[in-house]
Amino acid sequence: MRYFFETYGCQMNKAESASIEQILLLRGWTASDYAETADLVVINTCSVRATAENRILGRLGWYAALKKARSGDFSSAKRTNPFAVEVPQKKLSLIVTGCMAERLKDDLKKQHPVVDYVVGTFQKQHFEDIIDCIEQNKSFSDLKETAVYSFAPLSYEQGAFQSFVPIMHGCNNFCSYCIVPFVRGREVSRSADEILVELDYLSAKGVREVTLLGQNVNSYKWEETVDGKTVTVDFPALLERIAARLKTSNSSIGWVRFMSSHPKDVSDRLIDVIAREKVLCRHIHLPVQNGSTSVLSAMNRKYTREDYLTLVEKIRNRIPDVSLSTDILVGFPGETEADFEQTLSLMREVQFETAYMYYYNPREGTAACSMKNQIPLEEKKRRVGLVIDLQLQITKDKLMQRVGEKVTVLAEAVSRDNKDELLGRTERDERVVFYGDESLIGKFVTVELSELTGNTFRAKIC
Ligand code: SF4
Repeated sequence: MRYFFETYGCQMNKAESASIEQILLLRGWTASDYAETADLVVINTCSVRATAENRILGRLGWYAALKKARSGDFSSAKRTNPFAVEVPQKKLSLIVTGCMAERLKDDLKKQHPVVDYVVGTFQKQHFEDIIDCIEQNKSFSDLKETAVYSFAPLSYEQGAFQSFVPIMHGCNNFCSYCIVPFVRGREVSRSADEILVELDYLSAKGVREVTLLGQNVNSYKWEETVDGKTVTVDFPALLERIAARLKTSNSSIGWVRFMSSHPKDVSDRLIDVIAREKVLCRHIHLPVQNGSTSVLSAMNRKYTREDYLTLVEKIRNRIPDVSLSTDILVGFPGETEADFEQTLSLMREVQFETAYMYYYNPREGTAACSMKNQIPLEEKKRRVGLVIDLQLQITKDKLMQRVGEKVTVLAEAVSRDNKDELLGRTERDERVVFYGDESLIGKFVTVELSELTGNTFRAKIC
């Protein structure tokens, strides 16, 4: 039996797809290079933007044609999809999971009968049952929701030297533009011991870098009983335990990253732990979203411009070699020209190494969608264009200051432009290309940064 995955959206989706893939591999399934030849297709969906959902709906039309072709009705498939190729006539099962599955639930199946199973956020414990039934050519109809999200046991991909480790799930913040709390549910943390056991497993597999994942990792909170007393493990305490475990076990894991962080939950203790524990990468993604306090308030971000700037100052004082990246969202309803100028001035002041920049897109089901004073599209595009131009200049200036330094990179892949070169990444999340043998992929290499091309360093192995 062969499977094929389509995964959209965030790193959490990628981790969850990898964990479903593990279930299939353990049962003897193999990956198919093409959907056309698979017995099972899993579409792991994203709801963050309407465009992401529309793209997935388009794919369902394509799968409807594929299913017809697979059932022998090739002429009809050809009418729907002129690019349809002749495919083996065998049954295809289609599972849709992820945020869009949770948002639309049974409506998705009713409107798109091509879908065999819609598996929402709180039904993921049924994957084994569904696969059982697919293997036996039966159908499974008892999809119940659990009260609490169940973490997948393992997100490791065979042979990988980088891996995601989900540590918490869901979000309690309800930023007014964001659909995530509605489709991922409330925050729930994974047992600290389970996380450590997964890290032991990844070490045994020779993994070099892990990224701890959660919608808001800083709200991680696990309660356990020690000597009859309840002990709370928060995010700084979890990072301390992880650092200690990696040290004592002489682990292959040399770098630990985490994402995403909400600025309101970054404590002094967290900053101290990052400063102290060298295994924690010198890179923090700290989404500011906007530089105007009144816009931040309308976004329900629960911090002010001044809070954010104070936090950045603390982080930079305590961890001078840290790189900071951020998300910038402009054109939020009611954002005035003066508000927008505040975002540009915050960017100039903080000097982020990189930023993900986008303009506000109304998302049905969120508070901001029905707010008055929506900004015209042309104006939103103008504003995002200006923040992109500014950030490009800041990024270039900051990277130029690094030329000449010796740094460690994790070699990730052969460069797409030159097969004699490797592409690597520093712990500060900078891209580096250098001449090197393929055997170095998955290893830490010391290089000297010799020049900058665009946002990528060229370097020489030391
Ligand atoms: S913190 Fe805000 S933006 Fe992030 S997932 Fe939660 S609601 Fe969405």
